[in-house]
Amino acid sequence: EYHDYVNMVKYSIKKVEVTAKNKNQTINLVTDLDNLVGYFDYDRIEQVALNILSNAIKYSPNGSIINTFLTKIDENVSMTIQDNGFGIPEKDINRIFERFYRVDKARSRELGGTGLGLSIAKEIVEAHLGKIKITSKLEKGTTVNLLLPLDLEEY
Ligand code: ATP
Ligand code: MG
Repeated sequence: EYHDYVNMVKYSIKKVEVTAKNKNQTINLVTDLDNLVGYFDYDRIEQVALNILSNAIKYSPNGSIINTFLTKIDENVSMTIQDNGFGIPEKDINRIFERFYRVDKARSRELGGTGLGLSIAKEIVEAHLGKIKITSKLEKGTTVNLLLPLDLEEY
């Protein structure tokens, strides 16, 4: 079905806001759009957004800022979630989409979770014929970019 990406992202941010507030974190939405209608499975793409936002919250220190960028690139929506958190070591970056893969076992155990979030996100994005890309620098932060075609009527 057709849904508004701007709305979906706003609501996703709202849903994780309590968790962010508990860590004194701020989540910003930066966009040049009032609305952006695309064909997507709302619940699944929302799940992807929530997963990535939750990671940004979980793997960033108290008081940090998370920026969400939303824009249109050609006939795609581009969504970028950027944190200034712990980052991911270069040797691990190629493995984080694997099921159950978690970077720092001790820290991960402490923070909770299963290591499934990103592998599920990748499956959902690819089912929408989109792309998910992660760049990261240890101790500097992580940027996750989603690119999803807007006119996907066959999904
Ligand atoms: P789950 O999402 O199932 O609760 P998880 O968060 O550990 O558990 P993923 O979301 O798949 O699993 O992430 C895999 C691993 O990638 C995480 O354990 C973490 O080490 C690393 N990671 C993911 N996002 C970030 C981020 N924004 N900053 C730093 N590390 C991250
Ligand atoms: Mg996760």
